[in-house]
Amino acid sequence: MPAEVRLLPGRERALLRHHPWIFSGAVGTLEGDPSPGETVEVTSAGGEWLARAAYSPASQIRARVWTWKPEEAIDEAFFGRRIRASLARRETLRADPQTTAYRELHAESDGLPGVIVDRYGEVRVVQLLTAGAEHHRAAIFQALQSGCEALVERSDASVRGLEGLEERTGTVWGSDPGDDLVVLEHGLRYHVDVHHGHKTGFYLDQRENRQLLRSGMAGKEVLNCFAYTGGFAICALAGGAARVLSIDSSSASLETARANVRLNGLDESGCEWLEADVFDALRRLRDRRAAFDVIVLDPPRFAATTAQVDRAARGYKDINLMAFRLLRDGGTLLTFSCSGGVSPDLFQKIVADAALDAGVEGIVTGWLGQPADHPVDLAFPEGRYLKGLVVRVTSPLPR
Ligand code: SAH
Repeated sequence: MPAEVRLLPGRERALLRHHPWIFSGAVGTLEGDPSPGETVEVTSAGGEWLARAAYSPASQIRARVWTWKPEEAIDEAFFGRRIRASLARRETLRADPQTTAYRELHAESDGLPGVIVDRYGEVRVVQLLTAGAEHHRAAIFQALQSGCEALVERSDASVRGLEGLEERTGTVWGSDPGDDLVVLEHGLRYHVDVHHGHKTGFYLDQRENRQLLRSGMAGKEVLNCFAYTGGFAICALAGGAARVLSIDSSSASLETARANVRLNGLDESGCEWLEADVFDALRRLRDRRAAFDVIVLDPPRFAATTAQVDRAARGYKDINLMAFRLLRDGGTLLTFSCSGGVSPDLFQKIVADAALDAGVEGIVTGWLGQPADHPVDLAFPEGRYLKGLVVRVTSPLPR
């Protein structure tokens, strides 16, 4: 007999809309003794079958749905089908010789909660983030074998702790790709360290937003905050920017950013690199009366949970306010938030408050988000986490 999670009365509503998460507070009774990650049958209080899900005893998200179809078994063939379908949705990207790094599978929104697969040339990097994904690791790895030369695991994200899982990393099969792969993104080249880089090595979700920075840059002075390995800096330089100042707190990341400038044959003399805390650095730039034509703010996630949203909002407001004070007349701010708990509306309001406090007026000329390889299932709005605004300052501070 498979284990069964029976919901409390009325708590089937989200599941009937195909939302894949079952919170602990929705669970009435558990029949059987499922181990972490094992498949359970989910039923309504009245006994109606709703879904088949992965059981996560340590997490507030007690179960995550694998399938809504009673006839679909959760076996090796299931993972093969889901992974093949996800890859098929990326055929256009796969066929583009100018871009060799992209997301192949985006967890819930590609039908496999807790599973992330990113592609860097012929190397696949996988993250298993939930008890369910961990439980089926052999089947998932098996299905990821065809179509690449090596598979690297980067299951070292902090969310694994919430699932009661240890970190797991390393080359799963194939020859170890080492710590320096070179990938292409819209024809520009980047060094990626899949073993030690952030996430799986690169912020693939900013690909199309970086590309935006390649137009209208001729002669501009650019400030690139939270630079990591220099993606936005490279694009601004490739677009003809006269000067780019990049700030990051990680010296190793800035070292790679420098190498990326050389890798693309771009003019290093236009680059400045500052290892500093962005909050402090922005204040110091203001004290020096520095001014820029374009500023990019791409901070790390300030809110990991909805409880942290207020504190995150203050962080976003601070950096946006300081950035507005550093922009020239007609200057442009590209500002991002990757905190899922901060909605696009809230983010725009925070940026509006920052402009007001900075004493500038601005118009939004672009609403940015995540690219098509980071899709959002209509039933899972939480999948939309990255948002950005292009703000043009129309009436700056008197200097
Ligand atoms: N824009 C980058 C991605 C940025 S990720 C790209 O396109 O690839 C966020 C970066 O912010 C990381 O490199 C991290 O080292 C840096 N960081 C985090 N907190 C910081 C802080 N307070 N000051 C400066 N850098 C910070």
